[in-house]
Amino acid sequence: MERTFIAIKPDGVQRGLVGEIIGRFEAKGFTLVGLKLIIASQELAERHYDIHKERPFFKDLVSFITSGPLVAMVWEGDGVVASARRIIGATNPLTAEPGTIRGDFAVSIGRNIIHGSDAIETAQREISLWFTDAELANWESTMKPWLV
Ligand code: ADP
Ligand code: MG
Repeated sequence: MERTFIAIKPDGVQRGLVGEIIGRFEAKGFTLVGLKLIIASQELAERHYDIHKERPFFKDLVSFITSGPLVAMVWEGDGVVASARRIIGATNPLTAEPGTIRGDFAVSIGRNIIHGSDAIETAQREISLWFTDAELANWESTMKPWLV
């Protein structure tokens, strides 16, 4: 089953948007398989954003992402990687469509509330960076009796 890595960045946590954001993924019908509130270390943040390390905003991005608690999550479902990117909206919140998370709640590209993996391979890399296998639920094995 396809999985993606989603993080509510420190600005989203501090602005009280955790419930709203989780609600959107739940309402869409995706399954939550991992969730934790953590303060990312410098090393973890740098590895996560490794691809941007030559960009002029890299240093600010890493200091922002390590500046306070963030909510790291793994969501599962058919097509979840691309669908989550559509739910999140464009990188620059000023051009993100209304109805998307960034379009509804942000104005600044450096404070755009949420991260979502951009491809299936990226998702696999990011999930293993942020979570151990033991921290992820395996819904297929036993668990969905509470939905009946
Ligand atoms: P996305 O988060 O939509 O995948 P990118 O991977 O291009 O976007 O960039 C990663 C993050 O770096 C963005 O979410 C944003 O917080 C930050 N960022 C990207 N471009 C800029 C920029 N020009 N100035 C400041 N921050 C930026
Ligand atoms: Mg990206």
